[in-house]
Amino acid sequence: MSKTLFEKIADKEIPATLVYEDEHVVAFKDIDPQAPVHVLIIPRKPIPRIAEAKPEDHAVLGHLLLKAAEVAKKLGLAKTGYRLVFNNGPHAGEAVPHLHCHLLGGRQMKWPPG
Ligand code: AMP
Repeated sequence: MSKTLFEKIADKEIPATLVYEDEHVVAFKDIDPQAPVHVLIIPRKPIPRIAEAKPEDHAVLGHLLLKAAEVAKKLGLAKTGYRLVFNNGPHAGEAVPHLHCHLLGGRQMKWPPG
C-alpha cells in the first residue's frame, strides 16, 4: 500500500518542521497554521482516523496524548492553555487520512468551534 502524506513526512521523504519525534510518534508544524502555534502530532503507524483505531492501538494513542502535552509545554503553552483536536470524517473536515492531533495555541480560542 502507498504511504500516506504524513508517513512520508515521518520518514523524512517530504520536508516538514519537526518539533518532536520518537519511536512511536512525530510532531511537526502545520503547513497552514490556524493559530500562532499549530502542530500536528501523528502516530508513525498509519491509523486512518480515530474511528478505525483498534484495541491494540491504546498504548500508542495514550503516548500520543502525553507527548502532545509535552510538546505544548515545550512550546510555551502550559500556562495560557491550548486546544487538541482530532477531525474524524467529512463533517469534521478531515482532509488527511492518517490520524493526527492538532495542537493549537497562542491565541484565545472560541467555543463552540466552527
Ligand atoms: P485535517 O483537516 O484534520 O485532516 O488536517 C490536515 C492538516 O494537515 C491541515 O491542517 C493541513 O494544513 C495540514 N497539512 C497538509 N499538508 C501538510 C504538510 N505537507 N505539512 C504540514 N501540514 C500539512
